Amino acid sequence: MRSLVLIGHGSHLNGESAVAVYRYAELIRERHLFDEVIEGYWKEEPSLRQVLKTTASTDVTVIPMFISEGYFTETVIPREMGLGHQGPVPPEGVARVIGGRTVRYTLPYGVHPSMTDVILARAREVLPDASPEDTALIVLGHGTTRNENSNKVVYQNAERIREAGLFAEVQALFLDEDPKVGTWPDTVRSPRVVVVPFFASEGWHTLETIPEDMGLTGTVTDFPENPHGHQRVYYARPVGTHAAVADVILHLAEEARGAGGPGGDTERGHEAAWQAFLKGARAGLRVGEVLVTPELGVFELRNALDEGRPGAELTTLVTPEGVRDQVRFTDGGEHRPVHTLRNLPRGWRAVLSEADLRRAMHYVYPAVIEETYAHDCHALRPTPWATTARRQTGIYAKVQKATPAQVEHVAQDVCSGCLRTRLWAGHKLTQSFLNGVPGGIPCAEACTFVVAEVREEVSGKRGGGHS
Ligand code: SF4
Repeated sequence: MRSLVLIGHGSHLNGESAVAVYRYAELIRERHLFDEVIEGYWKEEPSLRQVLKTTASTDVTVIPMFISEGYFTETVIPREMGLGHQGPVPPEGVARVIGGRTVRYTLPYGVHPSMTDVILARAREVLPDASPEDTALIVLGHGTTRNENSNKVVYQNAERIREAGLFAEVQALFLDEDPKVGTWPDTVRSPRVVVVPFFASEGWHTLETIPEDMGLTGTVTDFPENPHGHQRVYYARPVGTHAAVADVILHLAEEARGAGGPGGDTERGHEAAWQAFLKGARAGLRVGEVLVTPELGVFELRNALDEGRPGAELTTLVTPEGVRDQVRFTDGGEHRPVHTLRNLPRGWRAVLSEADLRRAMHYVYPAVIEETYAHDCHALRPTPWATTARRQTGIYAKVQKATPAQVEHVAQDVCSGCLRTRLWAGHKLTQSFLNGVPGGIPCAEACTFVVAEVREEVSGKRGGGHS
C-alpha cells in the first residue's frame, strides 16, 4: 500500500490557491499508481501538521508542489511535518520513520530535470515549428526572492535546452534580477522568439508584469506580437499549469522510493479511527455540522440544518470531489481555510458508497476523524501555544512576542466560531462525536489561521488581511 502526499501553499483568503494541487492530485489518482493521493497545505486543511495522520498506509511519499527550492521547501514544510530536517534537500530526498510511517520527502517538482520537457511542451504549444535556424527561446524566471531560489533551476533548464540544439539561441531572463526580461531586444537576435514563463501558476506576473516588461502589445491569450521591428514573440503559458507536471511528480515519487519494494501496510491507528467512524455512520451519526445517514447500502451526507428537507430541494452530489468543491466556500461565497469553523454551507446532499464516504468526510473535516479517535484513545498530545510560537520563523516569528492576553483575545474571537475544543489552551474535551456529542472535536494545536491572526494582533493590524 502506498500513499502520495502533494503539498501546496494554500491561502487563508483565496479559495483558488489550492486548486492547482487538487487538479494534479486528480490527474495522478486517475492513473491508479498509488492507493491514495492526498493534498496538504501550509495555510489550509489538512495542514502540514495534520496531513501525515490522514494517510492510510505506512509508505508515504511527500512532494512539495513548488516551482523552486527555498524557504517553504527547506524550512517550513520539513519543520511543520516533523521531518527532522532543515536546509537544502539532497537529490535523493529525505527519508524518515515518523509514527510508524516511512516518509520520503522529495525536492520540489520544479527542480526535476524533466521540467525541461514541460518547457519544450509549452514552447511547442505556441510555436509548433520552432527551428534552430530562426527561433530563440527565453526561459523566464522570477529571480531569487526572500522565499525562493529560482534562478538556478532556470539557468539549468536553459543550458539543457541549449545543448539539445533545438533553438538558434536560448536565454535565461528574469523579472526581478539581472539579466532582466526587459533587456531581451538588446540580446536576442532571432526573428521568432518563444517565451516560456518558468512560473507555478497564471497570475499577475504572467498576465501583466512580464508582457509589460517585454514591451508586448495585444492580449496575452492571443500571444501578442512584439513591436520591436522584425521580431515576433510567441508567449507561452506558465510551465506549472501544464498537465505534464503530473508526469514530473510521478518521476519524483518513483526516484524517491528507489528500489522501495511493494509498499507499506495499512496504518493501524488510521484504519481503527475510520472503522470507529464507519461503525457510527452505519447507525447514523452527526459529526460537527454534518449529518451522516445510512441509506440502502449507501450513505447520505448533508448539513444537519437541512435535516428533513426533501432531496429535490437540495443539490445532489455523487463524488468526494463534488463534496470537496461544495464545502470549500460558505453560503456567502467566502473561502473556508479552516473546515471546522461553523460555516458549512447548506443546500446540498451527497450520496456516496462507503469508500467514497471516507474520502468525502476527509474533505469535509480533514484530520478530524483521526484526531478525534486519537483523543478518545488518549493518544492525542496537545501542543501548547508557547511551543507553536517558538517554532515560527520568517514573518510569523513575531507571534513569539504575543502576550497570553493577546493570544487569548484572538482565540476567543476566532475559535469561538469553531467546532473544535482548544486542548492547546488547556481546555478539556470529555465527549466526542464518536460517542454521541456532534461538536466534540479536539484541537491539539493552534491552526495557522490563528497564528496569522495573532501576528496581526501583535502588529496592531488585526482586521487587515493575510494571505
Ligand atoms: Fe479551530 Fe481555533 Fe483550533 Fe483553529 S485554533 S482549528 S480556529 S479551535
